[in-house]
Amino acid sequence: MSNLALKPNLLDLNLADCERLVLGLGFKAFHGRNLFKWIHKHGVVDFDAMTDLSKGLRDTLRDRVEIRLPRIIHDRPSADGTVKWIMELGDGQRIETVFIPEGRRTTVCVSSQVGCALSCSFCATATQGFNRNLSVGEIAGQIWHATRRIGAAPSNVVMMGMGEPLANFDAVVKAMDIMQDDLAYMVAKTRLTLSTSGIVPNIYRLREVSDVSLAVSLHAPNDALRDQLVPINRKYPLAELLPACKAYVSGDRRRRVTWEYVLLDSVNDSPAHAKQLVRLLEGIPSKVNLIPFNPFAGSTYGTSPPERIEAFRGRLTRSGIFTMTRKTRGDEIAAACGQLVGRVQDRTGRMGRVLVDSRRMATS
Ligand code: SAH
Repeated sequence: MSNLALKPNLLDLNLADCERLVLGLGFKAFHGRNLFKWIHKHGVVDFDAMTDLSKGLRDTLRDRVEIRLPRIIHDRPSADGTVKWIMELGDGQRIETVFIPEGRRTTVCVSSQVGCALSCSFCATATQGFNRNLSVGEIAGQIWHATRRIGAAPSNVVMMGMGEPLANFDAVVKAMDIMQDDLAYMVAKTRLTLSTSGIVPNIYRLREVSDVSLAVSLHAPNDALRDQLVPINRKYPLAELLPACKAYVSGDRRRRVTWEYVLLDSVNDSPAHAKQLVRLLEGIPSKVNLIPFNPFAGSTYGTSPPERIEAFRGRLTRSGIFTMTRKTRGDEIAAACGQLVGRVQDRTGRMGRVLVDSRRMATS
């Protein structure tokens, strides 16, 4: 069946869309609220089980729309409790979603694209190339499944899976809207974090439409090094990135930018790098998340030794920057940061690398 023949997918709709749809079908808008709640809060995707909708509406819905979820095809638990779900999408593409329990906190790490176009030199997702953006329903569908598997909505969501969320702006914003909705998953804005490699214009756009927490993959304290590690820096260098991030958290004294910094052995982990980083972040409300590099097949970097990580953290902390070292979770099932690879197919169904100019992509 071609895409054109597919009925609209209700998972692509936020609450306002759902009300509009039901109104457009000739029913009262509040039925749209109920419909939205059935799908997301109760996890019901069979129209006949939505008992407070009239038979007329249920028949119309069955006729005109669908609820298409990604399919969990693999469930890989790790000894530390982390679980990786491999999900297959309607067109056979595969993405990964990670569940990270930690005491009472439950975090779901969500993918935003099939593959990634940004070519960060230390990231496994980059090695598979880019295929396409995920739809709203494919992003929200990851939370739908996670909620059913966990037995409750996750307390925290991080847009840190495969892909660059700000390169799929509209779908990501709408999916985050669904995650935050009281009739759906009720994820608090302080517990919903979008991580970006630094697509500057879209950081400003995000500020206009959303107030989720912002994490930025910095990884280097100067342009020369960041150009190598995070190539989008050649397009949006630090002199543009830093003011955009500062603007994002301005106006609310409690907000801070989270800077992610993957520590690569003898590449970006020296005392001089730490010093430069402190200077760079001066005047920006910040916290730093140090990530020990997670190796993957074919990667050329090494993980910094623990004492160097600790020394790096010490320097930042002594300068008054709140700094945490991220615990590596789920690495034996390749679920740790930067280890996610799905299956990118080209249009003929063959596996392989689909080359896209990352600069064109990032601004589209
Ligand atoms: N594209 C977004 C979302 C990915 S988030 C971004 O760049 O922020 C995943 C985080 O893990 C990013 O900070 C990324 O830089 C980091 N990461 C990627 N590969 C890694 C690896 N091999 N080891 C540790 N962290 C890695």
